[in-house]
Amino acid sequence: MDTTRSLVEDLRRQVGDVTVRDAAREAAEDYIRGASERGVFPTEEAIAHLKELPSALPRDPTSPAAILSLLHLIGSPATVAQTGGRYFGFVNGGCLPAALAAKWLGDTWDQNAGLYVMSPIASALEAACESWLVDLLGLPPGTAMGLVGGTSMATLCGLAAGRDELLLRAGWDAGSRGLFGAPEIRVVLGEQAHASVFKGLGLLGLGRDRVESVPVDAQGRMVASKLPALDGKTLLVLQAGNVSTGAFDPLAEIIPAARAAGAWVHVDGAFGLWAAVSPRTRHLMAGADAADSWSVDAHKTLNAPYDNGLVFCRSRDALARAMRAAGAYFILSEQRDSMLYTPDMSRRARGVELWATLLSLGRDGAAALVDELCARARQFAELLAAQGFRVRNDVVFNQVLVTCETAEITQATLTGVQRSRECWCGGSSWENAPAMRISVCSFMTTEDDVRRSVAAFVAARESARRAAA
Ligand SMILES: *Cc1c(COP(=O)(O)O)cnc(C)c1O
Repeated sequence: MDTTRSLVEDLRRQVGDVTVRDAAREAAEDYIRGASERGVFPTEEAIAHLKELPSALPRDPTSPAAILSLLHLIGSPATVAQTGGRYFGFVNGGCLPAALAAKWLGDTWDQNAGLYVMSPIASALEAACESWLVDLLGLPPGTAMGLVGGTSMATLCGLAAGRDELLLRAGWDAGSRGLFGAPEIRVVLGEQAHASVFKGLGLLGLGRDRVESVPVDAQGRMVASKLPALDGKTLLVLQAGNVSTGAFDPLAEIIPAARAAGAWVHVDGAFGLWAAVSPRTRHLMAGADAADSWSVDAHKTLNAPYDNGLVFCRSRDALARAMRAAGAYFILSEQRDSMLYTPDMSRRARGVELWATLLSLGRDGAAALVDELCARARQFAELLAAQGFRVRNDVVFNQVLVTCETAEITQATLTGVQRSRECWCGGSSWENAPAMRISVCSFMTTEDDVRRSVAAFVAARESARRAAA
């Protein structure tokens, strides 16, 4: 037998070998057991061990057992422990147990979710998620949903649909003719629009810098009275949840007038759109349902696993037109064909874990989760304020922005907190000075986690003060 045959036959034999899947499960269980107590950021030593991973791709196959062992022995210690309760960096969510398990099973199915005919189950689960979420988020009935990797891609999709729709209304089919020679589209956004919005504008040929920037208030909210006059050639991008303060643009004040002027309104609600699921935070989202498109991450506030961004578009046709692809071999069905709503054709069935996440929470669980994240953020802010930290934002959602008495001490405290590995948060710049940004995003964060983390902040500030004295 030639080598090719025998190598491939070895791979086939591996399918029947349960020991490697058992090894993966044991490694995962080991990781989960240690998640709450491991240092939140890997040690220098763990990072140094990454050098032991193969540098060049070996000529010979590596056994599944050896691969798993490399991943667990070298990989696990070099992870950031964001499945524990004391990771507050960026805006990164935890991962619900049912969602993780569903993802394992879904990965085993290895479905291509692009078309119904490639996976009836993926189609059915994604159709269910669409109708559940449109309802849960209070979006207009009939709104279409596309499942993408994250909010960056979701925003790109919403803006693409808006761009094409505005141009179509002006008699220009951008999908066919492109942008050269097209009527000009204006883009209006807040001074604190997220970096991903600018990236999307660049990719869409609308220009990162060709924007009309609207001033914001002390919380980072767009000031409605400072909006320029809007018209039917305007893409207006609003924010439901500022990454530093958690503040929401005054959506109810802005959206009706913008739409009456003919503008396309997109809402970037990467983590904040979920405010709609709880009666306690729903007021923040008042008026959001009047927009044209929305982007959100299920992997943030909702605690679905990573790689779960969602675009919603009021006009199913506008989204499908922007994402259209024609090919003789695409077999569209009477059921949901998910590739109609995304840039991807082939993709993994991320609806499996999204569906499991939603079912695992239920309506009440989703509201309880959001309430708990907000309550832990308020606890964080109160305890820090009691220790003399300056809380810079109104804690309306899950973000807390804090500083110390001087910029130097703030910076050194942040570095100290990160080095402590007791908890981890990121930095930001607020009013031209360094600030520490805490994002409570995981269902795992307990009151005790917050108390322990505040103690780490206090200790780090003590060292920073001693070093400065
Ligand atoms: C996280 C975030 C994004 C980007 O989302 P990704 O999932 O990282 O692509 C965009 N906007 C806001 C407000 C965010 O918090």
